[in-house]
Amino acid sequence: MASQHTIGQIQMVDLKNQYLKNKSAVDQAIQVCLDETSFIKGPQVALFERQLATYLNVPHVISCANGTDALQLAMMALDLKPNDEVIVPAFTYVATAEVIALLGLKPIIIDVDPKTFTINKELVAEAITPQTRLVVPVHLFGQCADMGGILDLCQANEIAIVEDAAQAIGASYTFPNGYVLAAGCLGDLGTTSFFPSKNLGCFGDGGAVFTRTEELACKVRMIANHGQARKYEHEVVGINSRLDSLQAAILLIKLKSLATYTANRQRAAAWYDNLLNGISEVEIPYRAPNSTHVFHQYTIKVPAKKRDGLIEFLKQNGIPSMVYYPKSLTRQKAYQDVGRVVGDLSVTHELCQRVLSLPMHTELTEPQIAYIAETITTYFA
Ligand SMILES: *Cc1c(COP(=O)(O)O)cnc(C)c1O
Repeated sequence: MASQHTIGQIQMVDLKNQYLKNKSAVDQAIQVCLDETSFIKGPQVALFERQLATYLNVPHVISCANGTDALQLAMMALDLKPNDEVIVPAFTYVATAEVIALLGLKPIIIDVDPKTFTINKELVAEAITPQTRLVVPVHLFGQCADMGGILDLCQANEIAIVEDAAQAIGASYTFPNGYVLAAGCLGDLGTTSFFPSKNLGCFGDGGAVFTRTEELACKVRMIANHGQARKYEHEVVGINSRLDSLQAAILLIKLKSLATYTANRQRAAAWYDNLLNGISEVEIPYRAPNSTHVFHQYTIKVPAKKRDGLIEFLKQNGIPSMVYYPKSLTRQKAYQDVGRVVGDLSVTHELCQRVLSLPMHTELTEPQIAYIAETITTYFA
């Protein structure tokens, strides 16, 4: 087995080496902000919104303080009423459901697809009632949910869509006619997060809302700024949620590298695939035919009984790993009595027992992945 000393320390995420690669540009951009001292609403913010809009090919990007706020802003812009039903997958990060509950809406929690880990569109159809106003597909781990059917279903039933693209910035979805849209730009609104470990991360908190509809873009902007239409004219109850100039300056630099970051993650995933594919007890990530995969996480499935042992064996060999997510929403204390569950969530519960995310970031080397794969092979031998 390759010696650990020759390949450097393996981390889940390596932000330090990513920073060092464009240190001078980032440091300079930060210095410009300091010299300008326009920390809020500096020119970097509007410029970043425009450049991200161009990158995603979407007309409107509205930046905000974090990905959770982005979800809240998107939902507030839709004028939903208390107890309106919002369909969400059970297998996701808590933020998705948190915002629904905070706004007094009713989460309707459904199961996911066992291969893609994203919302199951047949179950969306089953969960719809006359009270359903919104579906929130989560593009989990970097791959788009099966949006085609969901878009048709929602259009037919006059239900809005907010896509949670916190983990999927840069992924794209291809329709059967060949038309391509970026993750987060298919529904009425889409949201993302610039949390440092996300695929496009800043050096603190940040987020954004995407939309193709000008009216919704204006509403989101107004709500994010205290519901203010003009200075000291407050038309609706809003919140205060901003991306600051320093974060925007850093994101402007990092956006230039996003395509390379994505390619590096996909290259690492391909190395993993090659080396893990032959192990009968390991299921490598499925690739949906209609979406690219930007590998926010590289998540394998292993037999439930062997997962804890594998985590421990990897740890003994200097390899970190994480379980995203160990519990369904419905098994979190805070959400046990919130909303309604449709179906038995058997897929989600099984995934919670079987998934394991391996180190995945932009700086992984082929020898590091070879070492991780060898360690996994040894464990299952
Ligand atoms: C990270 C994340 C969020 C929240 O983003 P923050 O910037 O941490 O608020 C929401 N949804 C999903 C799926 C996420 O992974």
